[in-house]
Amino acid sequence: MSKNIKSIRGMHDVLPADTSKWQYLESVLFAQMRRYSYHEIRMPVVESTALFSRSIGEVTDIVEKEMYTFEDRNGDSLTLRPEGTASCVRAGIQSGILHNQLQRLWYMGPMFRHERPQKGRYRQFHQIGVETYGMPNPEIDAELIIMTAELWKQLGLTDVRLEINSLGSNEARAQYKEMLIAYLEAYKDQLDEDSSRRLYSNPLRILDTKNPDMMSIIKGAPKLSEHLDEESRQHFEKLKKILDRADIAYNVNPNLVRGLDYYCKTVFEWVTDKLGAQGTICAGGRYDGLVAQLGGRDTPAAGFAIGLERLLSLLDDAGLIPEAVRPDIYLVTLGDVAEIEGMALACQLRTDNPDLVVLSNCSAGSLKSQLKKADNSAANIAIILGDEEIEKKIVIVKYLREKKEQITVPLNELNTFLKNYK
Ligand code: ATP
Ligand code: MG
Repeated sequence: MSKNIKSIRGMHDVLPADTSKWQYLESVLFAQMRRYSYHEIRMPVVESTALFSRSIGEVTDIVEKEMYTFEDRNGDSLTLRPEGTASCVRAGIQSGILHNQLQRLWYMGPMFRHERPQKGRYRQFHQIGVETYGMPNPEIDAELIIMTAELWKQLGLTDVRLEINSLGSNEARAQYKEMLIAYLEAYKDQLDEDSSRRLYSNPLRILDTKNPDMMSIIKGAPKLSEHLDEESRQHFEKLKKILDRADIAYNVNPNLVRGLDYYCKTVFEWVTDKLGAQGTICAGGRYDGLVAQLGGRDTPAAGFAIGLERLLSLLDDAGLIPEAVRPDIYLVTLGDVAEIEGMALACQLRTDNPDLVVLSNCSAGSLKSQLKKADNSAANIAIILGDEEIEKKIVIVKYLREKKEQITVPLNELNTFLKNYK
């Protein structure tokens, strides 16, 4: 016997029992995007490898060790997108919708990273990403934060907190980088493997380490917030004022640096303690330099991405996902004529009552076995149509969830009955 083929490690099916949870979350997200007047953009899941190495940065975790890169049949190096921002910028430049325009965009879909799979960390995962272009001021940073804060409220989440920081201008950060390297060099033999590797290439990322042994070294490091350029400092102050006024609590975390190279000025994360080490459910910030870096005209930009698997499991664990929609009617048919008439009736019921979910039995069987299926389907009522009922122009309505006697309803009164029943 041949061996069954399984899905790829870290890449999961979403089975019917769970799709309604995804659909619920998606509907809340889409509505939120609409209310804020953000427009959807859809990009391919495969891009030129250079797009990611040039934007995310050669010495980031993603580019160094997480990308799914392969050669196309014509020899081009392609990569399954590990995130959406770079693709979004590429698409924006290519189509000319960024230059001299204000854009509020969003996308949703799978991302791919070759990480060690564990709870909250997968090799195919899903993000909704939000990106804005053409707005240099902190108001838009605040809008992004406010729309996520409101989203948590709508979803009923209370255990998420906001961390913010400013990375300053690219120049200020380059200067700070030198200071940080000088400081860390004194602890060279105490740095863990990851940090040693990053000491010269990406020292800021060391501040973001999750290794507790490194904390005392990091505590003493010079603070980026004390070395910000004046413009970034004012930008950050105004952002904090807007958040204060909007009653959004935040914690300024000077060690929040984000893993990707393109961020500047504002960065933020929404974090929960409920998901163990994989506690960041939303992360974003400003990336004013990226559009120009990828060949477009200088365009200010800011955005965020939400990890949907993490958000969903947080909601699920807290019992915050509404039950899936159940069928209203299960149509049972008994007899040769009824099997034919039943299909027409189901069709008619759906046309006359577009809000009702009607499930047809479709596969004969005794009354008992059909009612068992009706019960398993979680439908509210069974409508029974037999050859005898057809002659009398009636149906039998059996209540499946309530302790009520079954009743007969004349066929020509069925719609009225169903309207009142709902
Ligand atoms: P982390 O520090 O958890 O690795 P990250 O900084 O790599 O996160 P981003 O690139 O900012 O993550 O992606 C935004 C969000 O996407 C994360 O906050 C997280 O919710 C989600 N995410 C990132 N990588 C994964 C993954 N491998 N599996 C599931 N969700 C992920
Ligand atoms: Mg990561």
